[in-house]
Amino acid sequence: MGNKKDTENEMVIEFDGRPSNEGFARVALAAFCTQLNPTLEEVADIKTALSEAITNAMIHGYEGEVHKIRMECKIKGGILYVTVRDTGKGIEDIEKAMQPMYTTKPELDRSGMGFVFMEAFMDQVQVESVPGQGTAVHMQKTIGR
Ligand code: ATP
Ligand code: MG
Repeated sequence: MGNKKDTENEMVIEFDGRPSNEGFARVALAAFCTQLNPTLEEVADIKTALSEAITNAMIHGYEGEVHKIRMECKIKGGILYVTVRDTGKGIEDIEKAMQPMYTTKPELDRSGMGFVFMEAFMDQVQVESVPGQGTAVHMQKTIGR
């Protein structure tokens, strides 16, 4: 038997994209990653990155309509993998969308820093998106190095 940290583990939850469910998703992810013995700072980083991805799905993907958001989490080899998926409007130009201060919703006081925060708080962020079909944000972070 290896130690707990090395045990591969997976979890998926799907929830309505409402602001009130964001806290729930954050807590679920934090609880899931306790297996890796994260520091408080690591937990805070992961929760912040997750919030940005979920907020984007609600505001940009679904433009305020309530539809499902899927969070897929995996632990493997001391690395936490998190994917946030929506089936919303998608992103036309991903490279542009990920640039600092780029936002398509300045009227909602967005600052265009969501992807920058995700990249700062996680080791890797990859975005897949098909206009009209949806977006998947894949993030990973090595915990307890
Ligand atoms: P902030 O996150 O600072 O409030 P923002 O959400 O506009 O502002 P980012 O999170 O960096 O900034 O996202 C940049 C842009 O990428 C958004 O303005 C939007 O056009 C697009 N985008 C991001 N996530 C999605 C998504 N899930 N579906 C559709 N478009 C998205
Ligand atoms: Mg954002």
